[in-house]
Amino acid sequence: MTTPAPDSPDLPPAPPAGVSPRTLAVSAGRPARVPGGSLNPPLVLTSTFVSQGAPAPGEHLYGRIGTPAWEPFEDALAALERTDHATTARRVDGPPATVFASGMAAIDAVVALVPLGGRVVVPRHAYQVTLVLLREQAERGLLRVDAVDVADTDAVVAAVRGQGEPAAMLWLESPTNPMLEVADVPALVAAAHDVGAIVVVDNTFATPLTQRPLALGADVVVHSVTKYLAGHSDVVLGATVTDDDDLHARIVAHRTTHGAIAGPFEVWLALRGLRTLALRVERAQANAGELARRLATHADVVEVRYPGLPQDPGHARAAAQMDGFGAIIGLQPVGGPAGADALVDAVSLWVPATSLGGVESTLERRRRFSTESPTVPEDLVRLSVGIEDVEDLWRDLDAALGAAGRTTRT
Ligand SMILES: *Cc1c(COP(=O)(O)O)cnc(C)c1O
Repeated sequence: MTTPAPDSPDLPPAPPAGVSPRTLAVSAGRPARVPGGSLNPPLVLTSTFVSQGAPAPGEHLYGRIGTPAWEPFEDALAALERTDHATTARRVDGPPATVFASGMAAIDAVVALVPLGGRVVVPRHAYQVTLVLLREQAERGLLRVDAVDVADTDAVVAAVRGQGEPAAMLWLESPTNPMLEVADVPALVAAAHDVGAIVVVDNTFATPLTQRPLALGADVVVHSVTKYLAGHSDVVLGATVTDDDDLHARIVAHRTTHGAIAGPFEVWLALRGLRTLALRVERAQANAGELARRLATHADVVEVRYPGLPQDPGHARAAAQMDGFGAIIGLQPVGGPAGADALVDAVSLWVPATSLGGVESTLERRRRFSTESPTVPEDLVRLSVGIEDVEDLWRDLDAALGAAGRTTRT
């Protein structure tokens, strides 16, 4: 199998120019329209492709190097994230996305872009395993790490500039996991590009429907596809997206050499999940906004973090650079860590679980993990709000907060 030439009738039809990202999520990455052909990309299970002689560009050879099992999802995600919403057929208008075995595999491939000994500036409340990976590589002398308060723009800019020794990479996560701090992405991109640093944004929390970092100037976007993009808590998968041909080629080469490749069925499920991304994100965000407003005045709640609340420190920035506020809420109930554990024990509809971004609502006290940053409050409960009926979610949460409050007050 080879990739069809740009004018080939075998190319899938591009969605019409100018359609909404909500439409792209449904219509990008479809197979060519052939009478009697499959509407959805088929599940391709093969390690090996028939080939002979010098491979043509894009020719499929072997499942670790490239496979049609990845391409429809990669095309659809690229169409959603890339600056021009490029909707023409694959590999014509620029690089597609690159799918990986997990979000961490994608993150590892992007960190590998840092030259030996280079400095990485990262939010101190970035995803905990991203921080573990960077710290491990720093201990081995591969790179250096500066962790910063990503909401403090002056501090981040100073760290990026360094003392005459600028950073090689600015890693951003916005909003951060789990503290929900919001970075001033355009200002930080400008400062990083001034010193020639690569800017990466982990866009897992926002999704491309709510925030498009490449359009804000970032060089590379990474996703834990496990979360909202796949959306049903049934696959672990990651991806990168970039507009830059050189960075794309280096990321793909890392995938081929290090081998953290995605399984065909996982990618097939992720594309199936992506089709309903807009509906899921819209409902989850609406639910989260309503719950955050109610929690903000709840007698058994000490603090609520949600960028959609007007009083939240990240609200103005989020409103300026996002098309919504996401569906993750940080909650500190009365009673400290014991109150937080009692809350997680007392829910019945909400599921006590890690991870996030699925259709079902989940919650956990983050500091139950010894690897979580010590500056995350011990009593912080992270809520991943799903798409259930908001009144059912509220009744369960309100009752659990009341029960937890009574236990810890007595
Ligand atoms: C879960 C998560 C990751 C890691 O992704 P995996 O798919 O679990 O490997 C990275 N970043 C963020 C923000 C996450 O929430």
